[in-house]
Amino acid sequence: MYPIRTILHPTDFSEQARAAFDCAWPDYLPRCTEADFAENRRLRAATAWKYWMHDTGTLLPTQLASGRSKCFCGAALTIASVDDHIRQTHMDMA
Ligand SMILES: [Zn+2]
Repeated sequence: MYPIRTILHPTDFSEQARAAFDCAWPDYLPRCTEADFAENRRLRAATAWKYWMHDTGTLLPTQLASGRSKCFCGAALTIASVDDHIRQTHMDMA
């Protein structure tokens, strides 16, 4: 299982930011679409995946001159395949 890593969470806000968040959230939330939530989950999974790659000492394809590396799960990666790999294999990290 992956460690839980919180990048930004409402509990991290200052009191003033928290009050502004609480005020704006009821107006913002009803305008969110399922696509917005899906994109948020994708971004959270991609961020968690990148941190897990870093924490396991696994280089990203963008960090190698070849543009190729392997995921911590063993899958071959290219710069172009990273997003699809995360979507297909690591959405549980969101
Ligand atoms: Zn993988």
